[in-house]
Amino acid sequence: MNIELQVCGLVMLIIFLVFIERDRKLNVKNRLLFIAAFGVCIACLVFDIASIVVIHMAVYEGFSPTVTKAVCKLYIMLLVTQGYCGFLYACYDLAVQFNNKLIRNLAMILYIVGEILIIILPLDYYMEGRSVYSYGPAALCTYALSIFYISFTLFLSLKHKKDISHRRLIALFTWQGLWLIAALIQFVFKEVLLVGFAAALGMIVLYSQLENPNEHIDRATGLFTQNALSLFLQDKFNYNKPFAFYTAKIKYLVPFGELEMKRNAVIRSARGFLELGDEPVFRIGDDKFCVIYDSKERAKEKLMEIKARADGVTDIPVEAKFIFFPDSTMLTGVDEVFNFIHCYEDSAENLLVCDQDLVDKMRYRTRVYNLIENALRDDRVEVYYQPIYNVKAGKFTSAEALVRIKDEDGKMVSPGDFIPVAEENGQIIPLGIRVFKKVCELLATGELQKLGIENIESNISVAQFDYENPTSFVKKHIEEYNIDPSSINLEITETADTGLKHLLNLNIEKLRAIGVTFSLDDFGTGRSNLDYFVDMPAQNIKFDLKFTQGYFTNDRIKHVMEGMVNIVHNMDMKIVSEGVETKEQLDAMVSLGIDYIQGYYFSRPITSTEFMEFLKAHQG
Ligand code: C2E
Ligand code: MG
Ligand code: MG
Repeated sequence: MNIELQVCGLVMLIIFLVFIERDRKLNVKNRLLFIAAFGVCIACLVFDIASIVVIHMAVYEGFSPTVTKAVCKLYIMLLVTQGYCGFLYACYDLAVQFNNKLIRNLAMILYIVGEILIIILPLDYYMEGRSVYSYGPAALCTYALSIFYISFTLFLSLKHKKDISHRRLIALFTWQGLWLIAALIQFVFKEVLLVGFAAALGMIVLYSQLENPNEHIDRATGLFTQNALSLFLQDKFNYNKPFAFYTAKIKYLVPFGELEMKRNAVIRSARGFLELGDEPVFRIGDDKFCVIYDSKERAKEKLMEIKARADGVTDIPVEAKFIFFPDSTMLTGVDEVFNFIHCYEDSAENLLVCDQDLVDKMRYRTRVYNLIENALRDDRVEVYYQPIYNVKAGKFTSAEALVRIKDEDGKMVSPGDFIPVAEENGQIIPLGIRVFKKVCELLATGELQKLGIENIESNISVAQFDYENPTSFVKKHIEEYNIDPSSINLEITETADTGLKHLLNLNIEKLRAIGVTFSLDDFGTGRSNLDYFVDMPAQNIKFDLKFTQGYFTNDRIKHVMEGMVNIVHNMDMKIVSEGVETKEQLDAMVSLGIDYIQGYYFSRPITSTEFMEFLKAHQG
C-alpha cells in the first residue's frame, strides 16, 4: 500500500511530540496554536493512512463504500482544518498590526461553511496500483479552501513582512511552501502521496525555527530567557491582560574570578525565585531576573518575601536591586517594559516602585536618546559660539562653543534639555567628539585667528574622561586638523566622584603638556568646592551666571566674589564672568577686576557664520 511516506511523517511527529511535551512551557497563545496545528497534523496523517487502507479494502476486499467515503471525508475535513490552523498561527504574529477582526471572522465562517459543504457534497475514490485519490465536488472544495488558506497566509506574511522577524518569515514560507509544492506534485503524479509528509516536515521546521524551547530556556538555570519574556509579554499586551512584575538585579559578592562560585550562586538564586510560586521566572541578563504576576497584590507579597530573604537566597552574601512595577497598563508595549527596566536598573534605590512620573521620565529620556541618535546620524548637531570679551585687550579674544541640536522639525534644542540625559546614557561621548571635531574644523580654517581669536572654549563632560584612553580624541583631532593646541581651552565642571577626579587630573596634565588649556566651569554653583578649586590644574575659572548675577542681589555673594578675585589672581589664574546681561553688570565686573566677560550683553550664542560677522563688526 502507498502509505510509507505518511507512516514516516507520523513517526517523525510522534517522536517530536515527546520532546515538545517534555519542554518547560510558557503559557502563551502562540504556543497553544502551535500545539493545535501539530495535533491536527498528526490527526491528518492518521486519517490519510486510514483512508488509503479503507480504499484499498473497499476496492479489493469489498469493504463498505459508505464507511470508506466517510473516512475519506474525515481526512479531507482535517486537511482543511490544518490549513485554517496554519492561517491562525501565522496571524497570531501579526496580531498587533493585524487587528482586523473582519478578516479573521471571514476566515472562520469560510472554514465552517467549507466543512459543512464537504459533509454534504459527494465524494468518490479511485485506486489502481499505487495511484490512489479521492475526487468529486467535496475534494474540489478541499483543494479550493486549502489553496485559499495557504496563499492568504503567504500574502499576509508578505504584506506585513516589515513587522515580523526575518527568521519567522522564512520559517512560515518554508512551511507553507513545502505544503503547496507537495500538493502540486501530488496533483500531477497521483502515485506520489507527498502532502502528509510535507506537512509533517513543515511542522518540524516550525518547531526547530520558531518553537524551539532551547531559545526560551536558559541552560544554566532552567529559567525562561529574555526572548521568552518578550514573547510572553507580547501575548499579554495583544490580549489586554494587565500584569505586574518585579525585576531583581543581583550583585554577588563573590571573590573576583571565582566563576564556579558565582555560577552556583546564580543557580541558587534562580531556585529561590522558583520556590516562590508557579509564576514564570525569567533570567533576563547575567544577574537579572524578572517574575511576572497577574495581580499586583500577589506580586507585592512575593516581592516582599524574596526581599526579606534576599541575603539567604544563596549562602553567599548578595546585594539586590529591585524594581517593582505594579500596573502594566501604564506601559504601551513590550519595548517600554524593557526600556523601563533598562532605564532604572542602576538607580540608587534598592527598591524602586514604578509610578507615572517614572514612566514619563523614561519616555522623556527615550525621546531625548532618539533625538541625539538621529541628530548624530543626520548631522544635525550644531555648534554655536558665544563671544568672550577680554577686558585687558579691549576686544574679543575667545568664545565658548555651545552645542545645539536641530530636531526633525528644524527647531533648536538647548543643551540643558539633553546634556544631562546624554551624560547618563553615555551618548555624551559621541556627541562630545562631534562638537569637538566641529570646533577643530572651524579653527583649522584660520579665519577666527585672523579676526583676533586666540582660543575657543569647548565644554567637556567628566563622563568623557571615564573611558580607556580619554585624551586620545582631543589629541587625535588636534593633529588631524593640524591646529595649535593652545587654541583649545577645555571647560570642565567639577565632579564629586573622587575616582574620576584622579583620572580627570591625570588627563588634564597629559593635555596641558601639549599646550591645551583648561577652565573650571560653573564656579559658584552647588557643584563647586574649594578643595577641587585648589586641586584642579586649570588656568581659568568661570564664575557661573548665578554667581555673577548674585553679586548685585546678595551681599554675601558680593563679598565672596571680591575675595575670590584676589585668591584667583594670586594663584596665577584668570576669571571669566558668565551671564553678564547689562552695561551696569559689565561695569561692575570690570571694576571688580574680572579678566573676561561673557554674556548676552555682548551676544547670545550664535552660529559660526554669525560669529565671524560679529567679529568683523566689533574687532575694529
Ligand atoms: P555653560 O558651559 O555654563 O554655558 C553657559 C550657558 O549660559 C550657555 O547655555 C549660555 O547660553 C548661557 N548664557 C551665557 N550668557 C548668558 C546670559 O547673559 N544670560 C543667560 N541667561 N544665559 C547666558 P547653554 O548654551 O544653554 O548651555 C547650557 C550648558 O550645557 C552649558 O553651560 C554646558 O554645561 C552644557 N553644554 C553646552 N554645550 C556643551 C558641550 O558641547 N558639551 C558638554 N559636555 N556640555 C555642553
Ligand atoms: Mg561652559
Ligand atoms: Mg558655565
